[in-house]
Amino acid sequence: MYALREALQLWYSTHKRDLPWRHTQDPYAIWLSEIILQQTRVDQGLPYYHRFISTFPTVNDLAQATQQEVLNLWQGLGYYSRGRNLHATAQQIIAEYNGVFPETYQGLLKLKGIGPYTAAAIASFAFNLPHAVLDGNVFRVLSRYFGIDLPINATEGKVLFEQLANELLDRHAPALHNQAIMEFGALQCKPVSPNCKWCPVSDSCAALKANKVDILPIKLKKTKIKERFFVYHVITNQQQQIAFQQRGPKDIWEGLFEFPLREFEDDDKAAAYLQDKTTIGAPYKHVLTHQKITAHFIADRVENWPQNNFLFLDISDLNAHPIPRLIDKFLDTFVQNNLDVKPAL
Ligand code: SF4
Repeated sequence: MYALREALQLWYSTHKRDLPWRHTQDPYAIWLSEIILQQTRVDQGLPYYHRFISTFPTVNDLAQATQQEVLNLWQGLGYYSRGRNLHATAQQIIAEYNGVFPETYQGLLKLKGIGPYTAAAIASFAFNLPHAVLDGNVFRVLSRYFGIDLPINATEGKVLFEQLANELLDRHAPALHNQAIMEFGALQCKPVSPNCKWCPVSDSCAALKANKVDILPIKLKKTKIKERFFVYHVITNQQQQIAFQQRGPKDIWEGLFEFPLREFEDDDKAAAYLQDKTTIGAPYKHVLTHQKITAHFIADRVENWPQNNFLFLDISDLNAHPIPRLIDKFLDTFVQNNLDVKPAL
């Protein structure tokens, strides 16, 4: 343990990249960099970091901005929900914490969008607290160096890696240690073609000895869950009947009846469509074996659907028409709450 810890810090002192968030202990700047770098390469995220920190030098500046201003700066980075969460968290820090970042790991975890990795990163880099970071780079270094073939995304593996990362942590220099092991994983012990030939710990690396470098770390393949974003249009006629249409083949719920539907490929596109519309209640989350559906419901007018082949049904007639459980759940609340079913104006 001690030898690896020393070797990592020595390696880091000569190989580290000069990155702006490594010159600060400001939790806001560190948090900003961590959120920007999620699912983003450093060279791609760097200009965004500069742009954000110069436009919004403090968390207060970010919180005061409009969501549109934040999203405009975020443009091109993808995963727009990260941009929206960034803004929401800044507002939370102003509203609930007087504009001051919590200074403990547990306190940081209470912020929106901050999980164990980001909390450990901020706690160690900003406050030098002894919390070990565990990201993809750290998992890789640990699994290869110690030759661990437990899957990194299964409970048993996660517990073991967490334990190991904490044992390895240099409690006297947690910020330096965390930076060193992550940088080592990013530049030296890379996912593909790690530089084992010139590695300072190759003599004691278990994966290298056992010829397992290419197969570690092990990650269990998860069945991919497809996310879908539905907007259902609740259209009523003068008799207070509701418009339904029948679902076609080759998809879920074949032949079942549902409200007129528009489907969007992601949450951002659905949100843009809903921007000037009034939704009925909160969105519904509906989970199927391989699909997760987020469904919004809005009131609409039949005139907006000139090519329709709708079937107008009384709610009491629905027994004769099979409907998906999701629509059923919505109707339960809809009828119970006696919500306004008149056409949208
Ligand atoms: S020898 Fe290769 S696999 Fe082992 S720690 Fe070094 S770079 Fe990683």
